[in-house]
Amino acid sequence: MHEMSLAESIVSLVESHAEAEGFSRVKAIWLEIGELAGVEVEALTFSLDVVMRESLMEGAQVHIRRQPAQGWCLACSQAVEVRDRVSGCPLCGSHQLQVSGGDALRVAELEVE
Ligand SMILES: [Zn+2]
Repeated sequence: MHEMSLAESIVSLVESHAEAEGFSRVKAIWLEIGELAGVEVEALTFSLDVVMRESLMEGAQVHIRRQPAQGWCLACSQAVEVRDRVSGCPLCGSHQLQVSGGDALRVAELEVE
C-alpha cells in the first residue's frame, strides 16, 4: 500500500528533525496534501496511526489540509481551482487546462515538546 510507505517516510522525516532540533515528542502535525497527489487521506490517516505507535509521534494529532491545484483555463482565460484531472474547468467544463501544483505532500507544521 502506497499510503503505508508515505506514512513511514513522514515519521522518519520527523525523527530526523527531532534529532537535528532536539525535541522528543510531537503533539500535533499538519500535513498539506495536494488534491492531485493521488493520496487516499483515510488510508494515510490509518497508516500513520499504525506507524506512529512506539515512535516519538505516538498519540500525536494529525491534521490534514488539502491543497487544490491551480489551473489556467485557455477557454475562459481565467485562473481556476483544479480538484481532479478528469472534470476539466469548473467554470466551463473545457479540458484545455494548464495545471500547476497540487501534487505534493509536505509537512507544513509540527507542534513539539
Ligand atoms: Zn473554462
